[in-house]
Amino acid sequence: MASKLLIKNIKTLVQVRDEAPIKICGKDMAILPCIDNAWLAIENGLIADYGSMDDFPGITDWKGLEVIDAADRIILPCYVDSHTHIVYAGNREGEFVDRINGLSYEEIAKRGGGILNSAQLLRNTSEEDLFQQSLIRFNEIIASGTGAVEIKSGYGLNLESELKMLRVIKRLKDLDIIPVKATFLGAHAIPPEFKENKEDYIQLIINEILPAIAKEKLADYIDVFCEQGYFTAEETERVLMAGKKHGLVGKVHAEQLSHSNGIKIAIKCGAISVDHLEYCNDSDIEELLKSKTMPTVLPGAAFFLGLPLPPARKMIDAGLPVAFASDYNPGSSPSGNINFMMSLGCIQYKLTPEEVINACTINSAYAMDVSNKLGSITRGKLANIILTKKINSYGFIPYSFSNNHIESVIIKGILVE
Ligand SMILES: [Zn+2]
Repeated sequence: MASKLLIKNIKTLVQVRDEAPIKICGKDMAILPCIDNAWLAIENGLIADYGSMDDFPGITDWKGLEVIDAADRIILPCYVDSHTHIVYAGNREGEFVDRINGLSYEEIAKRGGGILNSAQLLRNTSEEDLFQQSLIRFNEIIASGTGAVEIKSGYGLNLESELKMLRVIKRLKDLDIIPVKATFLGAHAIPPEFKENKEDYIQLIINEILPAIAKEKLADYIDVFCEQGYFTAEETERVLMAGKKHGLVGKVHAEQLSHSNGIKIAIKCGAISVDHLEYCNDSDIEELLKSKTMPTVLPGAAFFLGLPLPPARKMIDAGLPVAFASDYNPGSSPSGNINFMMSLGCIQYKLTPEEVINACTINSAYAMDVSNKLGSITRGKLANIILTKKINSYGFIPYSFSNNHIESVIIKGILVE
């Protein structure tokens, strides 16, 4: 296997940053640095160098050098998906039809559907079976251009099954294909056996599940679904602070179905990101501007559930950074295709192609703390890149929605089969 790879005749090398910022805010999101007619050199899985074909270097050491002719196609850094639930059992296609027939997400949840339906299935699925089912989705998102992924637990909702989920996430991480971050989301829903005493479930999370997870080092982050009928802002704070004691940084599902003060609590607890944000208001935007927390929009979920759109345009115009992620999960976003999320960003949220690419690369890398490895074409970063088919420009990807414009994906310098 060649340890050196040279890609020449690249129509446009996208998101080139000699010194990459950790996040891009406000009007800077409209800027996407590129090199036209470019070359890219990869060595030992890392980006070694790049430049214009006009200054193509004389290669003296051809030994072990593999050359790919991009033949006038475009290269982008792989997407970073900072919010997914790809470890789950079965699917929720039945509820899809219920919703078509008029039931709301909340009504389905009240009938034992929703997250609790996934929890029931997951508890009855073996770890090996769960791994095999999840591996299919893991490979699927890599093929569609994702080069790093965050994956949450939260369909176990008891000690044994939350550990099972996190062990499956660890197995995906240990494959060492793309960077994986694990998030403990025990506070995703109230399990049926605690329906009448939610406080006992919160105590179980804090006093039993969390220490067990910390002991096995199974999680990087802790997350809470802060929402009416799920967990209040006060409960969210207690769970996040308990996680902090075990070294877990917070992430919060905030303001998705109503305004529940999740953003403000997340900021107070030093969360790395707040995700969803359909009901984010002006006062939340003010607080976010003073914080280091990354506002993350999940366009797939708002699209699938027909929710009001999070104010992404307003947030950027106010000077905030915005990240995008897929929220790939069986109930509200059964797709992890970031290309489509970018289309939604342009079509529904009125973001430009430059803004959505920044949202899905550098800013989402910040939201899962992989900025030093991914998010841009920068010397020393992982060579996780997308080679497009012959398309007019990078803007063609969000424009020509749902069509596959990816010719191949290269992970750590190796072509993915
Ligand atoms: Zn989610």
